[in-house]
Amino acid sequence: MMEFKLQDFIRPHLKNMPVYEINRPAVLGTERMYLDANESPFGDFNRYPDAKHELLKKEIAAINQIAEDQVFLGNGSDELIDLLIRTFCEPATDRILMLDPSFSIYEIYARFNNVQVGKIALDDEFQIDQNAYLQSVSQSQAKILFLCSPNNPTGNSLDDLKFYIQHFPGIVVIDEAYIEFSPNVSAVTFLKEFPNIIVLKTLSKAYAMAGLRVGAGFASVEIAQLINRLKPPYNISAESQRIALNELKKTAAFKQQLHLILAQKSFVEKQLAQLQIVEKVYPSDANFILVKFYDVEKIYEKLSEHHIKTSLRHPKIENCIRISIGSETENKKLLAILSTLKS
Ligand code: PMP
Repeated sequence: MMEFKLQDFIRPHLKNMPVYEINRPAVLGTERMYLDANESPFGDFNRYPDAKHELLKKEIAAINQIAEDQVFLGNGSDELIDLLIRTFCEPATDRILMLDPSFSIYEIYARFNNVQVGKIALDDEFQIDQNAYLQSVSQSQAKILFLCSPNNPTGNSLDDLKFYIQHFPGIVVIDEAYIEFSPNVSAVTFLKEFPNIIVLKTLSKAYAMAGLRVGAGFASVEIAQLINRLKPPYNISAESQRIALNELKKTAAFKQQLHLILAQKSFVEKQLAQLQIVEKVYPSDANFILVKFYDVEKIYEKLSEHHIKTSLRHPKIENCIRISIGSETENKKLLAILSTLKS
């Protein structure tokens, strides 16, 4: 790719934005009185959270073997997706490029911001056709390309990620919400090579903390500084930061859970593949499986009747339902119900 200059991609009016200054330590000690933020002196939740997420960021940086100044945190990676679009894309002028099918939030936030959306259709194996890709890139003049690998809702990892990064003259966001479930290395390891990439991860999936709303971005120091300057100051609550930090220390438990989920996925995949009602089980590197049924609407309805909520992807992905891997009991119940159904 050509030389990448971040300044060429930031929306012009953001370059000289005033900063909302907060000068407080990560942990408020008792040696000082804090009368600077109009908080109440009462209760257990009276203090604003650490705006710099210092302790949590340090832990997340260490886990991902990257410098702290290359990390930025959001209220879920959803917030970061919105923030990235608002930082780089001018409403009514700029566009993003994304895969189809892929995670719908990229399109929703782009549209919310009046940013246009270009889509690259994936092939039968949910991979990108390189020629079609090069054509879309040159035609679209998009500012941001969103790649999701492993991809939601298809479950597969994208081949040749570096090829797509190399041939995109803008910012490439690689959404790795499900990377912990996959055998592949994280694109965080590509950061030394590519100044134009931003890798997104989340504590919502393998780390089992969706309710806390913590997402992380990894990028060059320059990009991380920019996003940290523009993000809402108190975007992650004090309780979420405190609990997430505490939970992240339970490394052995996460490994064990990951192991169990992957073993369950392999069990569910094998069982599903043997059912008459199933046309195809798509290969998955995530904690969910995309399944093609012969009579998808009936199956979806039957599961609903049994109080099992799944994600119907038909008609966008013909005859498919996306099913998350649950606990062993949940998976067994799901399979037991499916095994009673006929096409
Ligand atoms: N990216 C992908 C691909 C996802 O599937 C999700 C959640 N479904 C997210 C990002 C958002 O995750 P969160 O906001 O919980 O971090």
